[in-house]
Amino acid sequence: MTSDAIKQFVEDARAVSVEETAKVMKLTFKRSGVEHPQPCPNCGGTDTFAFNTSKNKWNCRAGGIGGNDGIGMAAHCHDLDVRTRKGLLEACEIVLGRSMPDEAERESEEERAARLERLEQRRLQNEADAAARADTQADYREKERNKARGIYRPLDDLRTSRLKHGRLYLGRRCAGYPDATWLRVGADVTYWHGQDERGGPVALYSGPAMVAPFIGPDLDLIGCHITWIDLDRPPKYRPIFYGLTTEGAKAGLVPWVFGDPAASAEDLSDGLYELLPSKKMRGSKKGGLIPIAGHPDEQRWVGGEGIENGVAFGEWEGWRADTFYFAAGDLGNLAGPAEASSRFAHPALKKLDAKGVLRPAMVQGPVPKRDQDADDAMWVGDQVDELVLLADGDSERVMTAAAMARARARHARSGRLIPIVWPQTGCDFSKMAAEAEAGT
Ligand SMILES: [Zn+2]
Repeated sequence: MTSDAIKQFVEDARAVSVEETAKVMKLTFKRSGVEHPQPCPNCGGTDTFAFNTSKNKWNCRAGGIGGNDGIGMAAHCHDLDVRTRKGLLEACEIVLGRSMPDEAERESEEERAARLERLEQRRLQNEADAAARADTQADYREKERNKARGIYRPLDDLRTSRLKHGRLYLGRRCAGYPDATWLRVGADVTYWHGQDERGGPVALYSGPAMVAPFIGPDLDLIGCHITWIDLDRPPKYRPIFYGLTTEGAKAGLVPWVFGDPAASAEDLSDGLYELLPSKKMRGSKKGGLIPIAGHPDEQRWVGGEGIENGVAFGEWEGWRADTFYFAAGDLGNLAGPAEASSRFAHPALKKLDAKGVLRPAMVQGPVPKRDQDADDAMWVGDQVDELVLLADGDSERVMTAAAMARARARHARSGRLIPIVWPQTGCDFSKMAAEAEAGT
């Protein structure tokens, strides 16, 4: 081998980007974004290793090493020492996906030009693909946001609307409703479910619903949260919807239509029909929150998962003027993702695994995932110095406790108090409020 051929070989490898190398090495790409975290092929761990396709950088926290070239990344992942000639050349082989040239196989000037042209074409194609992906995602997000705005904006304030459903619903569930303009109510909000033969969405139901906005840190509406109301159906005062499952359709059953008799317990347990949620979200909720009462500029915030708990608690403490009441929409958006290593076995609950063996159910742990994005959980104003988190006593206790601890850790700031308030065991604030109201 001549030293010229080797120099050329190494030069070629140096020209390969981190993204190209990641593809050659078949590393994992997230579906969107430029940062791609994963276990380190060399050191293991969970999200210890990541490469960034926009910055052309890679980094391994476990190995305490990183850089901005494909060779270094390949070397770390394959545990090669690039300070030795052998290690360097092996890393170059990985990056280029071909073995070292010997004199006989040395490529001609034309072959080299053709290969560089291929590399350049591939790079341009990758750029175009990535841009197209980002465009479709942004388009989809914007369309969904516009739909959410289209649902929310034309509706009346729940507090003053001629339609009493919203006030009666919250009155029965939470013993009152806020004197605020965030929550709205509509007489004919459509419940879409499934597709017709031509692939269009099917309106399963249309009726009264409470509609809340999801807002981002700039108070822009990014989505909406819909709760359909049926005042004749205690204790939750929400309609019941059933959907035909894929299994049910295969078995030749017809879609359930609102007004049809309830699906039988047998059909439900056989998975032919399913109970559908009577709450839905449109647009994005990620990183956003549902305002209930007061203004996000306040220094004291109170809220939990659901709107009902927030309203019941606000009602109970008399809607303090210095407080912003909110809901996160769900526990995931309240607490954010967990660090995988903090997962733990439930002390009592067991689950059948794939082999039919009974094993402890695993619970998402109390430690927030490292290197989270800002919108991995709801936002909290920087000025907030008291964040009262309302736990949902209806949900499984251990899982909820771990999530509340995670929420507290995630939203912790110096000088900020984050008390967690629990309702009576097996109860939630809205149930307690409703029972107090009914005198039970
Ligand atoms: Zn590593």
